[in-house]
This record gives sequence, structure tokens and C-alpha cells, in this order.
Amino acid sequence: MSVGGGGAKRDPRFVPDEVVPTEDGRRLRIRWADGTASEYWPRDLRLVCPCAGCVDEMTGERTLDPTRVRPDVHPTAIHYVGRYALQFVWSDGHSTGFYTWEYLRELADPDAADEPPGGSG
Ligand SMILES: [Zn+2]
Repeated sequence: MSVGGGGAKRDPRFVPDEVVPTEDGRRLRIRWADGTASEYWPRDLRLVCPCAGCVDEMTGERTLDPTRVRPDVHPTAIHYVGRYALQFVWSDGHSTGFYTWEYLRELADPDAADEPPGGSG
């Protein structure tokens, strides 16, 4: 179950320039190497945690109950996982989810997943 390709060149749509809080401090902003910026509500990110504790590995079904996630949940720390993902340490103690850049980009910008790379207008 691996992604094909494996070229050395990284798609700028999935390469982060910076990961910072927004001016009001309420959201997380990722600026991408292609010049786009995506913003995320912390709780939304918590709800889509891709780890085995939140998603059934066999069925792919989400097992996390949104009603058990506090409205004020927020990351207390954010770690880079190599060059491919972010790991959030959540205020509810959860920290096992690795959010790949592709995953984060597609959350904010679902079209990015469909467009063939290198397309220009
Ligand atoms: Zn999780």
C-alpha cells in the first residue's frame, strides 16, 4: 500500500514554507511552497486525526466520537515528523496522529488532490 512514483522532486503544493498561528491565534495557518495558504480550526484537525485510535484500520471507518472532543481542544505542541508530516500534541492528551502534508493540503483544498501536477492555466 505505497504511493507510486517516488521521484526526488517534491510537489510544491505539499511542501510547507511555514506553520504558524493566525493573527488572532485561533487557527493554524500553513503557507505552502506554491504560494497558497491554508487555515485550520484546531478542533477540525483533532476530529480528522488519522491515527489507528481514531480510525478503524480494517474498515477505514472513523471511530472517534466527535461529541467526546472538547470544543476548546487545541494543540499544546506541534512536532515535525521527518519531512513528511506534522504531529500534534493535543490538549486532551492525544498525540498519536501523523498528519502528512498531503493530508493537510487535501483537507483545506480538496481539489488539490485531483488536479494533475504541473498543470498551468
Ligand atoms: Zn487519533
